[in-house]
Amino acid sequence: MPVLPPGLTQESFDKALDEFRAAIGAQWVFTSEADRASYLDPFDIGDQHDHASAAALAPADVEDCRKILAIANRYKVPLWPVSMGKNFAYGTAAPEMRGSVILDLKRMNRILEIDEQMGTAIVEPGVSFFDFKAELDRRGSRLWMSGPAHSWGSVIGNALEHGVGYTPYGQHAEQICGMEVLLADGTLVRTGLGALEGTREWQAYRWPFGPALDGMFTQSNFAIVTKMGLWLMPEPEGMAGVSIRVPRKDDFRALVDTLRPLRMTDTINAPYTIANGWRQITGGRVRSQVWDGPGAIPQARMEELLAERGDGWWSVIFNLFDSPAGLDLRLDKIRRAFDQGLPGATIDVRRWQQGEPQEPWMRQEVSLAPLGAVDWGGSPGGHSDLGPIVAPLGGRAEQVYEIIERRFLEYGKDPWVGIFGISSRALVFVADMYFTRTDAEETARCRALFRQLCADMQAIGVGLYRTHLRFMDDAAAMHAWGDHALPRLNDRIKAALDPNGILAPGKQGIGSWNSREGTDR
Ligand SMILES: Cc1cc2nc3c(=O)[nH]c(=O)nc-3n(C[C@H](O)[C@H](O)[C@H](O)COP(=O)(O)OP(=O)(O)OC[C@H]3O[C@@H](n4cnc5c(N)ncnc54)[C@H](O)[C@@H]3O)c2cc1C
Repeated sequence: MPVLPPGLTQESFDKALDEFRAAIGAQWVFTSEADRASYLDPFDIGDQHDHASAAALAPADVEDCRKILAIANRYKVPLWPVSMGKNFAYGTAAPEMRGSVILDLKRMNRILEIDEQMGTAIVEPGVSFFDFKAELDRRGSRLWMSGPAHSWGSVIGNALEHGVGYTPYGQHAEQICGMEVLLADGTLVRTGLGALEGTREWQAYRWPFGPALDGMFTQSNFAIVTKMGLWLMPEPEGMAGVSIRVPRKDDFRALVDTLRPLRMTDTINAPYTIANGWRQITGGRVRSQVWDGPGAIPQARMEELLAERGDGWWSVIFNLFDSPAGLDLRLDKIRRAFDQGLPGATIDVRRWQQGEPQEPWMRQEVSLAPLGAVDWGGSPGGHSDLGPIVAPLGGRAEQVYEIIERRFLEYGKDPWVGIFGISSRALVFVADMYFTRTDAEETARCRALFRQLCADMQAIGVGLYRTHLRFMDDAAAMHAWGDHALPRLNDRIKAALDPNGILAPGKQGIGSWNSREGTDR
């Protein structure tokens, strides 16, 4: 069934499509049912056609993007830029607003620079983690990539979404240093030192003269990002893979308080992941293999399953990066902290040093394997995440965890929770809702659970890290301080930069957060 951009007639949309074809080549304008279906969200919590696109365009370069913007402004065609479009769990390549036209940037896939001396790179949007790793390997580079759990996405899209990896450079938005962005009116801007003709320092310093604008183009709809500079990690002399088993559920507060100073002092110098019982028991299985009763898997069954695997209620994994002697010091400090704070914990360590073959625990290989988990709840499976950002203080983390677990159980869902120590001062909880996509009752229940938790989190002043398209307005509206001064400022910036609202309408609730209240989107 054809889908139109809101407010456009078939006739005017057809004219716009003809102009797009003339501008970038007919073969790069996708309108068939099958082509458009490939941009639907396979993991949507509800009818994926709620976020159907009207067409897709694949520009070759910045000039093509400029031409597209001029036409889109004239006809008021909303565009939804994606880099690789593999934003699984958060919308994949689908637009927030039904009827938007996907601006698929995959063809702009050049790795423009890898500076071995400076440890920096400049890439275009279509560079995937697979491509980037292959290029580093091809060059025999001594620089390492920090990638997310699965590698299908793009270096740019992931960093723009504040994505996370598992090295000291694992907070990917923090590695951004300089961008080239195309504004809705066709103006091309280079941020930071890229604004100087002939600069050698574009990727050298993030805080030069004037406002630092890179952050403004992340998780936003203010521009199309056409290039990004990034910092890359020099290959470490050694690594240690640490896994810690913590037996009792009641140990959570002590666990968070034990980890905090270790992360804050950079003793643990990369993000750690805490998994609760439900998150640990999957192990390549599907849920029906371990529990076929109603509601969430009960605590008693969980304890049996964990005992079978020799696991504690909590597990913690992280990697350390240092010279062999430095790793010894770090490990010694970690062991002493756990002896003191959580004597019941068991710590296992693996080691690697430069020159040895790499192993899977190092998470340096590119892979699609983590995507296998999506059928955990039932097939065809989907999942979405609630991502509260929480201070790593035992009492605070326990408060948030208890609310999440209670609500999941109340709504008959397994509280499948991972807690990521992504920075020295913040935990990001990832509470996964797994569902069978074709089960309308279950997906509606998950949406209700998500919105209930938004209200619960807002009530205690906790905000979210990233959401699926369906919850972007809800997450933006949670920022209520000062009569929603921050979302209102975002709306004003948007109106100034993109008066026709053609770039990614609805993205992160910018321009839409207060207009659709109370609807189950
Ligand atoms: C099992 C599983 C495990 C996962 N593990 C992780 C993980 O460990 N870490 C993690 O971070 N994520 C993880 N994800 C989430 C997600 O799949 C990745 O973050 C993925 O890298 C995002 O897709 P992408 O890079 O293709 O971004 P895209 O889909 O290309 O982009 C995401 C969004 O950013 C905006 N955008 C993208 N490019 C541009 C541009 N050039 N200009 C303007 N706006 C743009 C758009 O709004 C777009 O929708 C996981 C998902 C699943 C299902």
